[in-house]
Amino acid sequence: MKILITGSAGFVGSHLVERFLKEGHTVIGVDNYISGQHQNTALFRAHPRFQFLEADVSLGIPYHDDALDWVLHFASPASPPHYQEFPIETLMVGAQGTQHGLELALKHGAKFFLASTSEVYGDPHVHPQSESYWGHVNPNGLRSCYDEAKRYAEAITMAYHRARGVDTRIIRIFNTYGPRMRADDGRVITNFVHQALRGEALTIYGDGLQTRSFQYVDDLVEGIVRLIGVTYHEPVNLGNPTEFTMLELAAVVREVIDPELTLVYQPAPSDDPQQRKPDIARAQGLLGWTPQVSLRNGLQNLLNSVSESETTSDLKSFLTV
Ligand code: UDP
Repeated sequence: MKILITGSAGFVGSHLVERFLKEGHTVIGVDNYISGQHQNTALFRAHPRFQFLEADVSLGIPYHDDALDWVLHFASPASPPHYQEFPIETLMVGAQGTQHGLELALKHGAKFFLASTSEVYGDPHVHPQSESYWGHVNPNGLRSCYDEAKRYAEAITMAYHRARGVDTRIIRIFNTYGPRMRADDGRVITNFVHQALRGEALTIYGDGLQTRSFQYVDDLVEGIVRLIGVTYHEPVNLGNPTEFTMLELAAVVREVIDPELTLVYQPAPSDDPQQRKPDIARAQGLLGWTPQVSLRNGLQNLLNSVSESETTSDLKSFLTV
């Protein structure tokens, strides 16, 4: 197949590029590096079935060949510090970027796959979150640029499906981690791992009793590949349902990296969801999919990859800041 992936230089996008190239497909990556990394493009540059287009998909997708089987829309800043630094760009890539992707799919008779997020559930009043829950979202708070962009992206994807007949998929990705996350990404697992490696205290925001459920990136990619293989248009949660408080997460990081690590408490960010855990019954039934990688094993993989890439200038410069 010929697969165009927006956000190909990002964390999840780059893992998708790798998986589809390994499966023998042709991949066109698109990114403007607002939060993606050049080194992720460099990984595939020399591959004969990989092509890269540097472009802001909010303005358009400069793909002019004929054949295309899939448009996978994964472009967006996704960590709270990044999308809050670029709130307008985040809204635009969720709105215009999604529409450009849908138009491209329509033009080529390709299928369209949207990366949505558990953030569409906001600070949920229903626990765990199943796809039928409509969410509890602040429409103008600090997270609204991301939450509402993705909610709009879901709406326009369903509109193109209903009104124009585009064959679409929507996933809601819960917290995901793994190799190739930016060291300065600001999310809790990256912060804890890099703090631990420097022997610094782990930063707990708020009381540390808020929860998240952490999925290893390989499990996510497997779910995506399986959803591509079925015809289903409603949203599908992809996440690991094992739930941890941030204090429990810190305890696992201490156990895996260094039991001597201390904790330091910092103020809770505004609109920080108190709890998050996916109900994955739909993905299990539809795809026969269940996450396989435990937090301890996933953290160990991440650690291995961080030590391997410690020589890369990006990480080095981060570690010496
Ligand atoms: N958090 C934390 N310490 C950090 C970074 C994040 O305690 O150094 C908390 C944050 O307040 C939130 C949770 O970890 O409750 C997950 O935050 P993250 O930014 O990873 O992703 P989110 O799920 O909020 O998008």
